[in-house]
Amino acid sequence: MDMVDVKAGLADEARRLGFAACGVTSVRPFTEARTRALAAIDAGRMDGMAWYTRDRVEASADIGGRYPWARSIIALAWPYRPARPEPSSGGPAGTVRGRFSAYACTEDGGGAVDYHDLLAQRCDALVAWLRERVDGVRAKRFVDHGWALDRAIAERAGVGFAGKHASVITVAAGSYVLLASVAVSVALPVDAPSRRGCGHCTACIPSCPTGAIVAPGVIDARRCISYLTIEHRGPIPGELRRLMGTWAFGCDLCQEACPINERLAPDPLDVDTASTARGPVPHPDLVECLELSDAEFTARFEGTAVSRTGRAGLARNCAIALGNAGDGSALPALQRAAASDPDAVVREAARWGIAQLTGR
Ligand code: SF4
Ligand code: SF4
Repeated sequence: MDMVDVKAGLADEARRLGFAACGVTSVRPFTEARTRALAAIDAGRMDGMAWYTRDRVEASADIGGRYPWARSIIALAWPYRPARPEPSSGGPAGTVRGRFSAYACTEDGGGAVDYHDLLAQRCDALVAWLRERVDGVRAKRFVDHGWALDRAIAERAGVGFAGKHASVITVAAGSYVLLASVAVSVALPVDAPSRRGCGHCTACIPSCPTGAIVAPGVIDARRCISYLTIEHRGPIPGELRRLMGTWAFGCDLCQEACPINERLAPDPLDVDTASTARGPVPHPDLVECLELSDAEFTARFEGTAVSRTGRAGLARNCAIALGNAGDGSALPALQRAAASDPDAVVREAARWGIAQLTGR
């Protein structure tokens, strides 16, 4: 089969599998992205992510060097549905609701899933399609595990362009996409990078409550609510807590501020119930999440993105979110957590939440 036809069939198959965009680029090293990533480490903007090392950046920027058999990289974007900023219905009266980032609520027919697993399955299905048409294809997939510069790959493969909020914006789904890359041993025709851009718009920059977008396209992870609520272990720095609002897992504010997203994003999630027996929802019941036992946390969130925080991480976030929500009905739950949560970080966060609600 001619490689031009294989490439066209691959893009069709990617769409059939549910991807919003599929492009191809070469294995040439990503030198600019490498330089930017190393500069971020040197400037301390990645502090707290011990796994994000210079060696990892060097390796990620040179997939061709790591996998000498690789000839092309397939860049893929998986769409997810944004959440409505405000819940529109559901949940018992008096519930104090927080927010989970919309990507955490990614579903696959039967309910919430960890997007890593979902994308890995779909990437494998795409490789299987390729192997049916080209003999002996070797492949290595990367699904947001930090061993490929997914954003740079997506940009060079024409999947989208990086907005000033640093997320890749696609034509099919705006920036509400999760990225994956697959290195393959087949020399496929490459795509041209996107020529679109943000133009004069800067709307996302002032939308960030913590000032984490320190320059167009440059995020200081140490200030980003996504990092603080998901990756950061231990107490959250005091000066950032008031700025975190009611986010308990991730943050979508810079994406919600984006006018391109307003035009291109998929329909928002309808799931507004504050509580479900299983899986994340966009507007969770903060008291319920604060008080989950280890077993309840596992039963509800195992196999979803929220499991990354662990029970105590989510409870810490909820205690801070409850302090920021300003609803006194959460006081008894915060007092119980301050007195008896098994984790000292949660107890301290609960004391902080109480102080916000009582002014003491
Ligand atoms: S995700 Fe939230 S905290 Fe992070 S840069 Fe965007 S608006 Fe700021
Ligand atoms: S809000 Fe404006 S500047 Fe920010 S990513 Fe969207 S288009 Fe670009």
